[in-house]
Amino acid sequence: ADQIRIGIAGHGNLGRGVEAAISKNPDMKLVGIYTRRAPETISPLQTGTPVFSMADLAGHTDQIDVLILCGGSKDDLPKQGPELAALFNTVDSFDTHARIPEYFAAVDAPALVNRKTALISVGWDPGLFSINRAMGEALLPDGATYTFWGDGLSQGHSDAVRRVPGVADGVQYTRPVQQAVEQVRSASRPVLTTREKHRRECFIVLQEGADAEAVRTAIVTMPHYFDEYDTTVNFITADELRRDHQAMPHGGFVIRSGNTSAANAQVVEYSLKLDSNPEFTSSVLVAYARATHRLQQMGQYGAKTVFDVAPGLLSPKSAAELRAELL
Ligand code: NDP
Repeated sequence: ADQIRIGIAGHGNLGRGVEAAISKNPDMKLVGIYTRRAPETISPLQTGTPVFSMADLAGHTDQIDVLILCGGSKDDLPKQGPELAALFNTVDSFDTHARIPEYFAAVDAPALVNRKTALISVGWDPGLFSINRAMGEALLPDGATYTFWGDGLSQGHSDAVRRVPGVADGVQYTRPVQQAVEQVRSASRPVLTTREKHRRECFIVLQEGADAEAVRTAIVTMPHYFDEYDTTVNFITADELRRDHQAMPHGGFVIRSGNTSAANAQVVEYSLKLDSNPEFTSSVLVAYARATHRLQQMGQYGAKTVFDVAPGLLSPKSAAELRAELL
């Protein structure tokens, strides 16, 4: 069968992860990487992959079956998502949870008019975790859902600590509180505060002459980011940061516990342990790109989310193969 032709819009962590993921999916082929920067400054994983300017996309509509949008959720996707959904079938990982309804509407209109399929907010959270939250609620209506994140590097919180005066560089890890996790797994349905569920740990390189105590106070009291958590601040050298904190591990779990009768509690858990958050997220994007291509062929136009995609559409196997092999 013909390979699905994939384009990558934006070459950051996710863009590189998508390159890696496509190389593991023989039914797909990467036809180009598109960037807002000068194309010659981009080094694709595989030499020979053409790199184009984002401005060239409009002329390439007949060469790409699905365009995977790898821009940032804060500033890139709100603009790129609606624009590109008018021209291509798209998949993105928009993850600003509170703004998903608004983003859905902004992408839906141009996609519908142009008979394109635009799958938004794909990844692990939102994405795979969302599916597990929805399943948990549907299967155990008398219950409670818990999402824990970590151990993992949080990009947003790392950016926030790097903006604190006196900080030269740094990273932030989110860690689930083990005691809370055990309580949830015991099906006691605890009511947990923000502080009881997660703690935060920072590794900071100070600027020359900076006051460590002042930096620590500025971090642990930072509104929205740290003030509702127990936060540990460790000071390290630039060499230690380079040596020990370059990877982007993440993960977490979604747990639903509920009762099917007074006597019987049921606990359902879905968990991820990731060496590389962007590489895994990109693998999810690529599987959903296959589904997007099929939804397009089925005439399902407009914006969609993971809730709209049947699991079989993710697999390179046919429905008959799936019935025979995996049911
Ligand atoms: P990056 O910051 O690495 O890349 C975002 C964009 O910035 C790129 O598309 C690229 O666009 C540009 N860029 C990348 N590197 C550089 C550079 N050195 N100089 C200038 N510009 C650069 O973000 P990520 O790939 O890590 O993440 C993208 C989004 O994915 C995040 O905002 C997050 O919201 C989302 N995400 C979602 C997850 C989920 O589970 N749903 C999980 C993980 C991430 P261009 O090539 O056009 O310049």
